[in-house]
Amino acid sequence: MSENLNPQKSYIHTLHLALIGHVDHGKSTLAGRTLYELGLVNENVIREYKEQSILLGKPTSEYAWVMDIVKEERLRGLTIEPSYQLLEADSKRIVLVDGPGHPTYTKNAILAIGASDSAVLVVAADDGIMDQTKEHAVLAFAFGIRDLIVVINKMDRTDPPFDHQRYEDIKLNILILLNEIGFDENRIVILPAAAYFGDNLTRQSENLKWYSGPTFYEAIAQLRFPENLPRLPFRMAVDNTFPKRGIGQIATGRVASGSISRGDICIIMPGNHRAKIKSIESFKKTVDSISAGDDVGIALSGVSPEVISRGSVLGTPDNPPIVAKTILARITILEDKPGIHVGRSPLFFAHSTRTLAKIVGLVSRVSSSTNKVLERKPIKLAVNETGYVEIELQSFVSIEPSKENPLLSRFILREQDRTVAIGSCVEVLE
Ligand code: GDP
Repeated sequence: MSENLNPQKSYIHTLHLALIGHVDHGKSTLAGRTLYELGLVNENVIREYKEQSILLGKPTSEYAWVMDIVKEERLRGLTIEPSYQLLEADSKRIVLVDGPGHPTYTKNAILAIGASDSAVLVVAADDGIMDQTKEHAVLAFAFGIRDLIVVINKMDRTDPPFDHQRYEDIKLNILILLNEIGFDENRIVILPAAAYFGDNLTRQSENLKWYSGPTFYEAIAQLRFPENLPRLPFRMAVDNTFPKRGIGQIATGRVASGSISRGDICIIMPGNHRAKIKSIESFKKTVDSISAGDDVGIALSGVSPEVISRGSVLGTPDNPPIVAKTILARITILEDKPGIHVGRSPLFFAHSTRTLAKIVGLVSRVSSSTNKVLERKPIKLAVNETGYVEIELQSFVSIEPSKENPLLSRFILREQDRTVAIGSCVEVLE
């Protein structure tokens, strides 16, 4: 809550930025080389990665490996789990979340987007717009992401290299695509780069003399953190819990909204249990208070381990988290067979929790970009369609309407290991 904000302290917000786009368009390289340019990755590490990558027959992977830290990923040259890297820009902490681009890993891209406030869409200048360019942009929009940085990468690969006209052509097509999806042009920044060589990442490039806009780093620095989030009631979805001797139960996660301080009482939902905040750690430092966006570990006293687990949501006694059984939601369908109709019972995944769900009503089918109603009470929502549905949850889940708390409103519906729909809670009905 705002009273908890220390007026003496300038809060640095933490923005999570998902890297999205078609496989091999250079997402990991963009992130890795940017970290290197900022001096956050040691030259020796890059040299070592370069040697290893040559041995593994992937000679230009050294910067991508800064992000793809798991060995198996290196061998296959693919990112398979989201990875997180931290940098600072203009008094903000930026966490780069690298979502995998391989077609079978859409689910993991969803995880990366679901954990982020904004996104970087990477499009290779030689390939142009590809299937996943579009798919990831649609996913980002359906999850409520509105601020986008589009990097037209691999400008060294155009013919001739660094071709202004090729850049303008892709830029125009990207704007048409994003506009169709529903993005607002004023919240999109488009820039050229050659990530592998460092062109236009943290410094202007001699090769791109015709370009006068921001570098990638400047574009990141200009991103705005949703201003209202620190002022909303405190919410944190728990990713993990473990006991620490002599301290108590530790709960880790990201603060979705509001702020809280050491010594405050918090409420754990579902279950309505009280606990005292004994100490807080954020980015490896002990701190007195935390606010929206921060990744934290909180030590709680006065609770038994069974009452808190992955999927619990923390709030405050004067404004405890909402617990829902039935919700009204806006969803976008990703798979056609058999689409979404009343009676289907997919698995419901929201923040760190999951439960069985049942579709109990189809309210409307709407235009994904304008939200205009196209049909009332449709029988079915088919692939790529967006609509409003009523969902009954088998167990109580802490979830919030998107206007109150975007991060805690997002969910996905899965059946037989496939993501059939993605959406956000509009209203808690019961
Ligand atoms: P991701 O799958 O989108 O994360 O792509 P990666 O970052 O793994 O890059 C795929 C390949 O493209 C790697 O071999 C990179 O070295 C290469 N690459 C990335 N950026 C550039 C660039 O600006 N120019 C050139 N020529 N190659 C690049």
